Amino acid sequence: MKYNQIMVRFGELSTKGKNKKDFIHTLAINIKNALRDFPNLAFSVQYDHIYVILNETDPKPVIEILQDISGIHSLSLVLFTEDNIENLLKQSLALIREEEGKTFKVYTRRSNKAYPLNSDTINRTIAGEILRNSPLKVDVHNPDITLSIEVRNEGAYIFTKTFKGAGGYPLGTGGKVMHMLSGGIDSPVAAYLLLRRGLRIECIHFASPPYTNIGVIEKLKDLLKELNKYQSEIRLNVIQFTKLQEKIYEVADESYAITLMRRIMFRLASELSKRRHCLAISSGESVGQVASQTLESIGVINEVTNVPVIRPLVVTDKEEIIRIARKINTYEISIRPFEDCCTIFAPKNPKTKPALDKVEEYEAKFDYQTMINEALDNIEVIRVKKEEELF
Ligand code: ATP
Ligand code: MG
Repeated sequence: MKYNQIMVRFGELSTKGKNKKDFIHTLAINIKNALRDFPNLAFSVQYDHIYVILNETDPKPVIEILQDISGIHSLSLVLFTEDNIENLLKQSLALIREEEGKTFKVYTRRSNKAYPLNSDTINRTIAGEILRNSPLKVDVHNPDITLSIEVRNEGAYIFTKTFKGAGGYPLGTGGKVMHMLSGGIDSPVAAYLLLRRGLRIECIHFASPPYTNIGVIEKLKDLLKELNKYQSEIRLNVIQFTKLQEKIYEVADESYAITLMRRIMFRLASELSKRRHCLAISSGESVGQVASQTLESIGVINEVTNVPVIRPLVVTDKEEIIRIARKINTYEISIRPFEDCCTIFAPKNPKTKPALDKVEEYEAKFDYQTMINEALDNIEVIRVKKEEELF
């Protein structure tokens, strides 16, 4: 028995009307783009599902790709067939015979209300046929196999397996965020969580040559290549940060350096986000991880900006962050040794409760605004794209 379609579900959408249409339209485009290497596939876009019509294509790699696309709640490999009951009996029996297990249940949904039989009758008729013609037993609570039937206006769909999707919203429906990407473990994971929610990202990185190694940029590109699965082109803005860092160490007590540095980073990110039409900035901060990530410290840092700041990992523990990093293949890249500007310049006793007046006193000692403008005028922009196969 051959399955002939994949049913793609969106899950419970809180959006309705035009927003829902936009959601489906964007998702359909993303699906078609992601599957463009499979020339025989066809697509049918409907109000509550998208159907991928296989036309003899092997479903396995197609399902794997679909599982990574944000906005898809779940998917099933289905047999689309005529909905007359004789045909349903025949096809259901053929499908269930290929499954492994001892117990089953039939679950019917009927959205075609003109269909002559109700769901309950369909369930009982088909279950009876299976009981008579196979060794399987019914178990309605915990069956090994659930045979699902959906009777819709265009025909019936029969399936036994449902796969989990990435969830979230389709890429690009939620606006763009300026994300601070460091090369550590946290910030790529934070970026992934934003992408899964349907946001687009652009990245900003603060580089401190010669203190930080040039290899950092290669590492960032490798991280972004993994994230290209979710956004096919990501812009990386590299900011020269060395002069600002040196200046901070010149004017301020070492224990305040991290706070001052991060306030400058947030000023730079905010300014660039406005220039690039981003609606928010984001970072991989997680409360309590290090000195600059106490609530007191986050407060003093956040004070420099009126752009909304998203911190997707703020209360996520490190183990969970690492679990996600492994899942999205960024962990091995992130742990490659390299010197980060924050590690190089890390003071021995950073303030966990920096005082705002003290911070402002230090900042009054140098013209950071001119230095910020200069850094923004000298951004290096790197576009990291999905590698296209030429042939
Ligand atoms: P990560 O693992 O993402 O490096 P971390 O636990 O090392 O995070 P910090 O170094 O304090 O924490 O940085 C917190 C966040 O600030 C990072 O997640 C990132 O978003 C941002 N950040 C830190 N350093 C840089 C940098 N050099 N360039 C861009 N963003 C940075
Ligand atoms: Mg870091």
